[in-house]
Amino acid sequence: MNKKDMNPRIARWALLFQNYDFSIEHRAGSKMKHVDALSRNTNILMLYENTFEQTLSIKQIEDKDINKLKERLKKCEDKYFEMRNGLVYRKYKSELLFYVPSSMEDNVIRSVHEEYGHLGVEKTSEVVLRTFWFPNLREKVKSFISNCLKCISYSPVYGKKEGELHPIPKTPIPFDTIHIDHYGPLEKTGKKNKYLFVIIDAFTKFVRLYPCKTTNTVEVIRHMNDYFRCYSIPRRVISDRGSTFTSNAFGEFLAQKKVDLVLVATATPRANGQVERVNRCITAMLAKKTVDLNRWDRVLHEVEYALNNMLCASTGEAPSKLLFGVYQHGTVEGEFRRLLVEVEKDRNLEEIRKEAKDKIVKNQSYNKKYYDEKHKKPTLYKKGDFVVIKNTDVSVGVNKKLIPKFKGPYIIDKVLLNDRFIVKDVEGFQHTQVPYEGVISSDNMRHWVRSLEK
Ligand SMILES: [Zn+2]
Repeated sequence: MNKKDMNPRIARWALLFQNYDFSIEHRAGSKMKHVDALSRNTNILMLYENTFEQTLSIKQIEDKDINKLKERLKKCEDKYFEMRNGLVYRKYKSELLFYVPSSMEDNVIRSVHEEYGHLGVEKTSEVVLRTFWFPNLREKVKSFISNCLKCISYSPVYGKKEGELHPIPKTPIPFDTIHIDHYGPLEKTGKKNKYLFVIIDAFTKFVRLYPCKTTNTVEVIRHMNDYFRCYSIPRRVISDRGSTFTSNAFGEFLAQKKVDLVLVATATPRANGQVERVNRCITAMLAKKTVDLNRWDRVLHEVEYALNNMLCASTGEAPSKLLFGVYQHGTVEGEFRRLLVEVEKDRNLEEIRKEAKDKIVKNQSYNKKYYDEKHKKPTLYKKGDFVVIKNTDVSVGVNKKLIPKFKGPYIIDKVLLNDRFIVKDVEGFQHTQVPYEGVISSDNMRHWVRSLEK
């Protein structure tokens, strides 16, 4: 504002910017590659100095190709083009369409596409062609819409889902790897229990169920200590990205015990499939077993017993048999006993475990074949690609159809194993107060703009 001779356009910008707290920073051209991508976002402030029509006319005068055409039209008639009041029009059927200068093509497409509620390629092209014309119109509309953040975020996923199974190699030893998870909330019981803390041994599928008042770290650590004391400290623990399991306190607790923590990617329950299967059983059993909803913690030991003495499809054995070499003898009622399959043979524990391991390997390769056939090959995203990620935080009571299916844009920061990626905020485009960084699998993302790096 201290400048003496200020160009009126700059003066208007300067005045506008007085409304904001800002600082100006120079960035090298090599660091500006994302700006092109971001400028396609509709939230970016557009500075119009003239009306849309005026701008169109001015830009046409500045357009090289159109100027060449103009010179020709001054000399002779043309089959396709016509000049009126110094502006060039395209003859189309019985009408004249305004020849849009190339610098304004995107603006024209955007205004039509957005004004008409994000129409598809055919319909947007048709509406544009009522008034405007430019070369390769349909192709350009198509390319514009394929980059429209709203369209990418809201349009549903068609066809097969993508994905590929990457089974975790199983060590045929109990307590090598354990899966942990919370189940609930359930009805609050007389003892104020509201959740279940579930621990499953990855090889034997042996289950422990702990009733909890909360899902906080203190309670989790107490139950894990009990588990470690009763059975064994495992080599590693697998969990989802619940805040308890990602907390510093929990990480420190496991580090102290020299246990590795493996966190599965967000919204990929298949990676913690052990737990998901048990959770389904728990739901059915608790529902059948409990008369009073607020007394479920009293029958928990029966559910646990049934789960551990039931034949498990993936190992072909009951968990307790794989762990102890014998079925546990409990005091369950007939209802549960019917669920148990008695297959007593003269085998020692090692043989039993060896057979179970072979069965697991067979099952894993069968499941992988089946799963991979039913899914598209995962998309290979590259570092620097712009993506939108599936919107998983859907609040209750909101019409789900109106919530975007994807949110973003985000940028791929790192490519991990097994079709997973570290995804971060795009610089200057943070969606939340806290910077975002997550591990997302390829089936929970979509491309927005591919990386410009080769
Ligand atoms: Zn759109």
